[in-house]
Formats: sequence, C-alpha cells, structure tokens
Amino acid sequence: MTYSPSALIEFAQTAENIAATSKRMIKASILGDYFNKLVDEDLITAARFFAGYIFALRDQRTINIGGAALQTAITTIANIEKSKYQERLVKLGDPGDVAFEVLSDNVKSRQLPSTLTLYSLFSKLEQLAAVSGTKSKTSLVTELLRLATPLEAKYIVKLLAGDLRIGLKEGAVEDALARSFKVPVAKVQWVNMLTGDIGETAILARHQRLEQAKMRLFHPIKFMLASPADDLTEVTKQMPQGFAVEDKYDGIRAQAHIGMGRKGEDSLHGIVINDCRVALFSRTLDEITGTFPDLIESLAQLISDDIDNDLILDGEIVPIRGAKILPFQELQKRLGRKQVKQELIEEVPVAFIVYDILYANNCVLIEAPLKERRTILDSLRLDTEKVQRGLHKQFDDISGLDAEFTAARARGNEGLMVKDLNSTYKPGRRGKEWLKIKRAIATLDVVITAAEVGTGKRARFLSDYTFAVRTSETEPTLLNIGKAYSGLTDAEVTEISNWCRAHTIQELEHGRVCIVEPKLVLEVTFDRVQPSSRHNSGFALRFPRILRTRTDKPVEEIDTLETVQNLAETTHVNEASVPPNERSCTRHL
Ligand code: AMP
Repeated sequence: MTYSPSALIEFAQTAENIAATSKRMIKASILGDYFNKLVDEDLITAARFFAGYIFALRDQRTINIGGAALQTAITTIANIEKSKYQERLVKLGDPGDVAFEVLSDNVKSRQLPSTLTLYSLFSKLEQLAAVSGTKSKTSLVTELLRLATPLEAKYIVKLLAGDLRIGLKEGAVEDALARSFKVPVAKVQWVNMLTGDIGETAILARHQRLEQAKMRLFHPIKFMLASPADDLTEVTKQMPQGFAVEDKYDGIRAQAHIGMGRKGEDSLHGIVINDCRVALFSRTLDEITGTFPDLIESLAQLISDDIDNDLILDGEIVPIRGAKILPFQELQKRLGRKQVKQELIEEVPVAFIVYDILYANNCVLIEAPLKERRTILDSLRLDTEKVQRGLHKQFDDISGLDAEFTAARARGNEGLMVKDLNSTYKPGRRGKEWLKIKRAIATLDVVITAAEVGTGKRARFLSDYTFAVRTSETEPTLLNIGKAYSGLTDAEVTEISNWCRAHTIQELEHGRVCIVEPKLVLEVTFDRVQPSSRHNSGFALRFPRILRTRTDKPVEEIDTLETVQNLAETTHVNEASVPPNERSCTRHL
C-alpha cells in the first residue's frame, strides 16, 4: 500500500528504517530522501520531530506529559493491566516500544487504517500543550492514540516522551538537510543556532535562503562545557598562548536573553518588564525565568540606556547574601519551582554572575575569541547587587594557579575554570579549551535507577538509592555502581522520595523497592572505587555519601564507566574533612 508523504505512517516507517541502520551516512540519506518528498509545511513539522522537538526551540509551549499519563492512556486502549505494562517497560525501557507491542496484540488497534497525517498530529499536539491538568491531558492523549495504528502510536509516544531513540540527534537532521538541499552543513548549523528552529532552517535551506537568516533571541543556545584537567601541565600544553583564570562558581548555569520591544509576542519565552523582555534558560535548555523573578529587573536595566543593544549573557546563578556566596544547598530550595514565593526569595537571595557574552551590539559573538568577548563584557555596567561580573584574570604561566585555587575556595567557590583566551564559544561542546579544576575530593555524577524504603524514622520514605553511570559518552546504557542513603537532610529525602513515587516504573516487594525512571542526577562522594560483582558495572563504591541532587544536570552528562575505571586505578583518600583553604589544587589533580 502506498501512502501520501504527508501521512504519519510514512514518518513512522522512515523512523523505523533509520533505526534499522547504525551507519550515520545511511541514516542521513534515508532522512534526506524523505525530506525531499515533503511539502514545506510538512517539512517544518518532520524536521522538528526528527530532531526530537514538537515545537520550535524558541517557542515556549511544552506538552508536559508524564510517564504515568502515558501508561494510563496505553493501558486503557490496549485493555491491559498496569502491571503488564510495567513489566514490558522494564524489559524494553521505552514507552513507545511498549505501546507498539501491546497495541499490536490488540485486534482493534491492529486493524485500524492509517488516517493520521503530520498535520493532524501536530494540531492535536498543539491542543495538548494548550490544556492543563493531568486528567485533561490524559484523556486527549488517549483520544489521539485511539486513532493510531501500533506503529504510529510507537512514534507518537516517543515524541511525547521527548526522545525518538533511533540513533539520530539534531546534528544528523542538520546533516540530512545539507545533503538534500545541497548547502554547506556549517551554514545549516549556524542558521539553526540563530533561529532556534530546525523547521524554519529546513525551509531556508530548501529555498537557498540561508543567508537571510537573522539572529532571534529568546531561545537557548547550547552551553559550552569544560573538561576536567588531569594535571596542571595540561593547562600549559593546551593553552601555550595564555589563559584566563576564573572562579568556578557553585550554582546553576544560566543564559540570560535581554531585548526590547517584544511585548505582544506571547509565544516567546520570558517576562516583559518596562517594555523589555528577559528570559533565563538552564543548562538543560529549559526556561527558568519564573524561578528567579528577583533577577529580572536588574537584567532589564542593563539595556535601559541603549534599547537597541539586545544581549545574551552566559553565567551562573548563585545563592548570595551581601558579598558572601552561600552553599549550593541553599539554592536547591529554589530549584524546580515554576514560581517562587516572596518568603523564599528573601530566604535565599541570588545573583547572576556573568562570565561570558554571546550577543551584543547586533552581533553574534560566539566566533570571536574569549579575549574579545571579555572586553565587550567589561564594557557593560554589571555592578548591581543582582547582576555581577565574574572574576577573571589573565595569565601566561601556571605558577600563580595554586594561590588562585586557594583564594577561590576561601571565597566559597568550587575551584577554578581555566580558559584559552583565543578560544571561540563552541555551543554544546565539552572541549579542552575550557578546563575545570574542581574540589579536592573525588565525586561522581550518577543517576538514580531504584529507590528502597529506609529504616527507623525513614521507614515511610524511599530513602536508599541505587544509582548508575553511563556506559560511555556515546553509549547511554546505564550500569549500576552503588547504593547510598546518607548525606541528605530529612527535607531532601522527603522531596526525592515523593519524586521517586511519582516516577516509579515498577514496584517490587509490595512497594518496598521501586524501579524509577532514570532521570534524577545525584552527585556522590565515596572513599574508594573497587571491583565488585554486586552491580552490573563491575564496580562498587566504598562508603558512598550523597552530596546533593543535580536537577540542573541532564542524564546525558553524568559520569561514564571510563571515569569509574580511572578512579578505581588510583586509591582516593577522601579529604572532605580537610578545610578548603588547606587543600591545594596541584596536590589533588
Ligand atoms: P561540571 O558541572 O562539574 O561539569 O562543571 C561545569 C559547570 O561549571 C558549568 O556548567 C557551569 O555551571 C559551572 N561554572 C562555574 N563557574 C564557571 C565559569 N567561570 N565558567 C564556566 N563555567 C562555570
């Protein structure tokens, strides 16, 4: 049977074909052929869907549907018990794959004709974004999936869960667009970054109009990240021409967009104050403006003298009282809240510490060297209590680094960032042009995979957490590496316990143990890493303790088995008890 290219089943079949090959070039060519067949309107939708989005990145709408709502919708249509769904979810690990299996077993779904189109699906998803409340959302999803064949349902559910899982990232969609429309891939990437919409980029590429793209604010640009320094000689090796040394602030990474005259545009991210729009984005590219209303006025103030000077600033939001930076745990109280009450704003005051600038004077600055970006940053009036300039010194050699590290620790910061003065800003890249010199104790960023009921006063809570690392940067399979229950306050345990209950995918031992969606990242410390057959990673942590949750860190960025192996090779004595100013960075790198 042949379908029109606009049919959703064609999209699903293309996704299946892409998933069936591991070769990047073949994936790009299948995708390119498919794109070529689509009319403009469908191309916009399909490019976004294949990049894992539903709306343009600059569009503030979200679908916001949880695993529990998907489970209710799928089990209702397939007419199966929740336990059966959960069993399959544990086996397959992806709700879309489960939907396909259970709906294929259902005669009604199996015999449905394919009637959905890219357009009709997109309209339903717009409705879904517009309604609020789990109940209404669940009934809309149920209604939608009732119209879908098992294969269509598979990809609708994957889209709703936020990941198609067919070995395709946004970069591969950019490759395919360049291929099918015979334009340079670097140009496609640049325009996608400017517009914040892979759909619009696709149209500009098809019509050979990439040159006309203009920078649009109010969509997040991916953040440049740092690599850990193995030792200080690496600094000399990587940055022979001189480097900048900055404090490594212990807060959350944030990007601020500030621009005038966009009051009526409701679909944009941000808040309008005194005719100026301000939006804040987190490292996970989520909007966090509502969590920090106390920063908005000072940020808007930055362009009050020059309304033509839109800005994009990169920096860290830290908890701070007067000149004193407070421990990260304080900031934790404000994270994850869409709105914060005045009492909390007063209890945990914050400031935005700016250390980079990506847009100013109508120019995108990411291709300018850090030295130049810093000069522009220095020309801004960043001297309010709420918006401050990050400390920044330029050095030619490493002899002063020990003293800088000690001073940064004494100021309450985590360590140092060392940056190549000639480096351009590379969105989304973790390179060696930025090196981080962190706390002296060994830590790992891990993700919770299971939670167990505690003992004593924690008997009512899921307070013992099993956690995992990723197999490697490119292989996302999670491998358990330890279990910890100490290090958190009662309030933190209550919060994590509630989160785990809401994100349970399977209950074992009558609810005493819950397998949870692997989404919540923890930073843990330990005395040493040792080989062990207890966990499937082949390693275990001795005396693990939880330092904090890292809601600002996506699971794609947790530590890998390779880091664990490296840690196992060196015996780490935990130095948490040594006062910060007695630790030297050279000693512990
Ligand atoms: P990590 O979370 O250990 O991977 O370290 C990277 C993070 O350090 C960044 O995402 C920022 O949130 C944070 N950071 C703190 N200070 C700086 C700085 N001066 N420059 C860049 N990143 C910084």
